Amino acid sequence: MQKLRKIDCHVHLVGDGSAGSGCWFRLPGLWKKFLGRMMIKGVGLPTGLMKDGLDEAYAKNLVKQVKESSLDAVVALAQDIPYDERGNSMADEAQFYVPNEYVAKLAKENPEIIGACSIHPGRPDAMGELERCIEAGMPVLKLLPNCLNIDYSEKRFIPFWERMAEAKMILLSHTGGEMTVKVFDHAFSDPKKLEIPLECGVRVIAAHSAGRSGIFDMDWTADLLDMFKKYPQLYSDNSALCSINRARTLKHILPRGVNQRIIHGSDYPVPVSGLGPFLMGELSWSDYRETSGSKIPNIIERDYQLKKHIGFSADTFTRMDELLNEV
Ligand SMILES: [Zn+2]
Repeated sequence: MQKLRKIDCHVHLVGDGSAGSGCWFRLPGLWKKFLGRMMIKGVGLPTGLMKDGLDEAYAKNLVKQVKESSLDAVVALAQDIPYDERGNSMADEAQFYVPNEYVAKLAKENPEIIGACSIHPGRPDAMGELERCIEAGMPVLKLLPNCLNIDYSEKRFIPFWERMAEAKMILLSHTGGEMTVKVFDHAFSDPKKLEIPLECGVRVIAAHSAGRSGIFDMDWTADLLDMFKKYPQLYSDNSALCSINRARTLKHILPRGVNQRIIHGSDYPVPVSGLGPFLMGELSWSDYRETSGSKIPNIIERDYQLKKHIGFSADTFTRMDELLNEV
């Protein structure tokens, strides 16, 4: 049997179109600009790239960081735009866009990159684009339902989920609170909304384990853990949990019975820090010091080391590869 790869299942691509990626981003307001700069700095790139040249520098830097880390590969995510109920584009409301073709191209060129497409199931060409992505060998589909205006409980999307299940595609869906991107409806990130895709037989990874991000967010982790009993093909990732605002979710997903459904993910380029886990009592002081930014500047590696010290079992790092092999 082939050795399973250690995979980070949740890594964002960002670009400015400067090298023809087709990507764009908008950072309205000072707070968003500050966050953007912090992330670019956090992955070790100069903030001057926010003005030009981000496409190539970001992708190259990502591949280099994966190669230098303990991981074998990352799932890199496309990002679609929101659509309204009639299938009209709402691109003006979006903050960033990463086309499927760009992600497919990067995945083809780099063995360290596994491509995840992103398709709003209500866009007029959804079924055709799904076929193109299946054809391109993209095994994962990523959606942020709260930011893309997607209500999973709508019956009209059923053929889309059925085709995904048939193609053994995995749905990586944001669940829980969100602070970085504009939200249309918070209720769309309730994991209970995922019942229709699950009933259609789609394997689903609930990103962030449905926990809170801001203080006033809903916390759906308990509901998600309940759903694990009913749906054997439901998983969740531990992405972005090495942060002050999300570390509270850790204790709910560490117990043994639950740990078996957890998949390792970072949410790169979101900052990674051991401070939240330390304050929650999930990380010792010495492990906190050993994983500081000055000791481990590569945030893909830092997130991996932190998750190990926090107590996520070895199989959480290889589970994504297990899912990818179930074809
Ligand atoms: Zn994310």
